Amino acid sequence: MLNYTIRQLTAELAAKRVSSVEVAEFFLKRINTLGKALNAFISVDEEKTLAAAAAADRLIAAGKAGPLTGVPVAHKDIFCANGWKTTCGSKMLANFIAPYDAHVIEQFNAAGSVIAGKTNMDEFAMGSSNETSFFGPVRNPWNTETVPGGSSGGSAAAVAARLTPVATGTDTGGSIRQPAALTGICGLKPTYGVVSRYGMIAFASSLDQAGPFAKTAEDLALMLNAMAGFDARDSTSLQREGEDYTRDLVKPLAGLRVGLPREFFAEGMAPDVAKAIDEAIAQYKKLGCEMVEVSLPNMKLSVPVYYVLAPAEASSNLSRFDGVRYGHRAPEYSDLIDMYNKSRAQGFGAEVKRRILIGTYVLSHGYYDAYYIKAQKLRRLIAQDFTEAFKQCDVILGPTSPGTAFKIGEKSGDPVQMYLSDIYTIAVNLAGLPGMSLPCGFDSAKLPVGLQLIGNYFGEAKMLNVAHQYQLATDWHQRMPQGS
Ligand code: GLN
Repeated sequence: MLNYTIRQLTAELAAKRVSSVEVAEFFLKRINTLGKALNAFISVDEEKTLAAAAAADRLIAAGKAGPLTGVPVAHKDIFCANGWKTTCGSKMLANFIAPYDAHVIEQFNAAGSVIAGKTNMDEFAMGSSNETSFFGPVRNPWNTETVPGGSSGGSAAAVAARLTPVATGTDTGGSIRQPAALTGICGLKPTYGVVSRYGMIAFASSLDQAGPFAKTAEDLALMLNAMAGFDARDSTSLQREGEDYTRDLVKPLAGLRVGLPREFFAEGMAPDVAKAIDEAIAQYKKLGCEMVEVSLPNMKLSVPVYYVLAPAEASSNLSRFDGVRYGHRAPEYSDLIDMYNKSRAQGFGAEVKRRILIGTYVLSHGYYDAYYIKAQKLRRLIAQDFTEAFKQCDVILGPTSPGTAFKIGEKSGDPVQMYLSDIYTIAVNLAGLPGMSLPCGFDSAKLPVGLQLIGNYFGEAKMLNVAHQYQLATDWHQRMPQGS
């Protein structure tokens, strides 16, 4: 059961060789032991999980199973789930019980899956290491001295350690792909607008997108089938024909043009990462792909552009946490302003405060044109680079992260170093493109290396095809951490 994919699990359930309750019990046991040691979860509610599993068993017995019926899914604690504590990794929301379901949760419920718990994350999804969580850092199951990446580090660690077969996350600048890379699993960020943001606590609304974590590309496709779809409650949700994201998985890759951005390979990658990526390129050549050099000349601007735009949006989105409308309220205060000040000072951690200060500054009168407007213009140029590149290739390939998992505490004192760990992922969010990470090897310390694929707009099925064919030819995705 430990390594079952969605198809294997649903086949066992359909054949009644195992019940959904037994599956839930199996994974809950792991969550309550190994999961505690990794600090991967913020909320576990056995009663709710087992009740949902029992309901799934009744559906299966009645012959009414959906595509994910009985499959446990751990959700990042950024998604509101009715009756579940939903904290966003913050003291600000430490006692918030969501009174409704996010669209993503509704979709998974409709597909029959069982909520396995809510996973730990960087506070308000700000971070690349999971060290900014009010609930403490998550540990990487490959080496518990190291970080799992962030901000969806709890979900990534949970899938890597087989605490749950699959999980959800969100990606504003890399928060699905980078933790997937650092924990040796697969993670996908869809084209902006494909998955509704309704009920997903907002960080930077023009960049935020939800996506799946799994062991295989095929599982990602099955999860995306459940997650994607129009939702009138999110004004940026796209109204499109439904897609079956598994439809292209089996297509051979012969003749596929794979773009290698010159700027990705210029400098900055750790030697072990570069070696693993080179080996992946060789594998793709064997599969009949043609390598094409492309250029993303403005990519170097993506981290500075992101750190103007994302904090600007965050400062606006987080203004609602004032102790009145939402969030923690200071127990003692003298007047209204003092109450706001104290509530926000107590409720938010250092990284969130840093972002709110930067965002307020770049949006302020006199600086708005110089920073915010300028960054918006550069964002357009970054997106145009991709449009040009996709004239010459079908998919772009590169590393997900410049290095492998780093030690807990190693970068937390230096925000700029931390921000640079998203150097290869952030441009994809700025352009609104789909991107994914899949495991492609290990470094000399036996820590996983992630391979990034970037698709053109709505190129998810193609990207998943490219990943699946690689997984048919290699076995990196089958490796699991020792002790798990
Ligand atoms: N690490 C980036 C940040 O701190 C991206 C986070 C994310 O994608 N949510 O903002």
